[in-house]
Amino acid sequence: VLYMINNLISKMLTKLMPWRNTSLSSLPYEILPLEIEGKLYADTTVIKTASSDFGKLFHESPLAVFYPSTISDIVHLVKSSYTCSSPFKIAARGHGHSVGGQAMAKDGVVVEMTSLNTGIKVSWSNCLGFYADVGGEQLWIDVLRTTIEHGLAPVSWTDYLYLTVGGTLSNAGISGQSFLHGPQISNVHELDVITGKGDLLTCSRTTNSELFYGVLGGLGQFGIITSARIVLDKAPTRVKWVRMIYEDFHNFTKDQEHLISINHGLNYVEGSLILKKSPANNWRSSFFSIPDESKVNSLASKRGMIYSLEVVKYYDEFSIQTINEELDEIFKDLSFKTGFIFKKDVSFVDFLNRVRIEELKLQSQGLWDVPHPWLNLFVPKSGILEFNQHVFIDIIQKEAKSSGPFLVYPMKRETWDDRMSATIPDEDEDVFYTIGLLHSARNTEDGKIIEHQNKRILKVCDEIGIKIKQYLPRHYTTKEEWMKHFGAKWSFFEETKTKYDPKMILSPGQRIF
Ligand code: FAD
Repeated sequence: VLYMINNLISKMLTKLMPWRNTSLSSLPYEILPLEIEGKLYADTTVIKTASSDFGKLFHESPLAVFYPSTISDIVHLVKSSYTCSSPFKIAARGHGHSVGGQAMAKDGVVVEMTSLNTGIKVSWSNCLGFYADVGGEQLWIDVLRTTIEHGLAPVSWTDYLYLTVGGTLSNAGISGQSFLHGPQISNVHELDVITGKGDLLTCSRTTNSELFYGVLGGLGQFGIITSARIVLDKAPTRVKWVRMIYEDFHNFTKDQEHLISINHGLNYVEGSLILKKSPANNWRSSFFSIPDESKVNSLASKRGMIYSLEVVKYYDEFSIQTINEELDEIFKDLSFKTGFIFKKDVSFVDFLNRVRIEELKLQSQGLWDVPHPWLNLFVPKSGILEFNQHVFIDIIQKEAKSSGPFLVYPMKRETWDDRMSATIPDEDEDVFYTIGLLHSARNTEDGKIIEHQNKRILKVCDEIGIKIKQYLPRHYTTKEEWMKHFGAKWSFFEETKTKYDPKMILSPGQRIF
């Protein structure tokens, strides 16, 4: 009789929750609270989405995808795994814009963070000034939209805003503003984090500080960020957006370094390569008008490769009279090619959200959801000229495998907090460069060819002794490589993991532990 009753209950449950019969049945049901079970899904569509990311080159299937409606749902899920005799892996998935499976959880559970909506609240305090309390699941575009209504905005950004706060803070979050304010992780007062034991903790520089420093740039290893308190400043209304073209890499980097060194100068400094096959306008922005673009592209065709310095100065109604003179003063000693300076004047929001317009164009042509074999690196300043010769000229230009874009711009070491997990070159230099080889491939086959090129680039750097660090690291396969990556920070990283995620549950897609 018992057997029949059991069978009947099981059949009823299967009808109500069809995934029970599928892969999900491997999860320890006996310990999952019913309200958690009801938020786990394993149908083909959700599994397919959680098994892929922006890179489109790497796939790993979870057993289930979890759609939390509250933070305590995630607490229960993590606690269930932690207390169970065979814990299952759990990965927070922000917007899935990693390129190497970092937000995947093979045979585990992916937490779809965007199913939360914990909101964005702008506040002010005597000691912190203006700040925003932002859910880890929030997209930066929504942070911008909300804060700008108060005439405020975060100070440090990424080029693209459809990324989650939890996702970028797990890496660093960098863009042309980083030289001035540091990466996004340098602009956080406090975090709420669910550890690998299922404890919800608040941490800051003074409370649970090792968790705070560990989580920032910690690749999701110590906890799931449910909220971040982010620094805000008065938002400008408009920006002067300028590009200058260089034929010589040495002059290009010399001027970049000069521009990030001056006080009260620019608000944003980036740079990129322009090649015959990597034209001046690309998905990062269609900055150039049609005639300007053809002028720049024809110079690139003639020279093989040229360099575009991209800068921005913010302004508002108080500085409208003086902004052009201020810029002329800043530009007067630069060595860009005469006649190759191009200016635009746009709203602050349009500038920050510039990539979205291009994304929508590519989406409509079916060219956005293609493989993205990206390689992001930090290169010591002392190695940047050699990097230009051995990587940009000898590999990227010669082999011309994709149209990029290819970014190169400097950062200041002093704006990074060495106590945080994010790693930058060891070299004791005040400046290092960020390199973004942001390839789009036509298909998986081409993607693999570019992946091979990426590996060769890493090998070349190793052989000629340029001590690079990977940003958004994904090319490591052994523990030794991770130890080398974190260098002196490794023992802190390992100890913090043992303390906050002793059963190695969180973010398995990073393949560190
Ligand atoms: P996901 O890919 O979903 O997750 C990334 C990692 O973080 C995973 O390990 C995941 O488990 C973990 N994670 C996610 N949410 C949380 C959370 N709440 N708590 C703890 N861990 C979590 N980066 C820059 O720095 N600057 C740029 O300018 C920039 N531009 C980009 C442009 C595009 C078009 C794309 C696709 C990416 C860009 N990136 C840039 C990289 C991007 O910042 C990272 O890939 C980031 O992780 C993506 O955020 P996400 O929300 O999609 O995170």
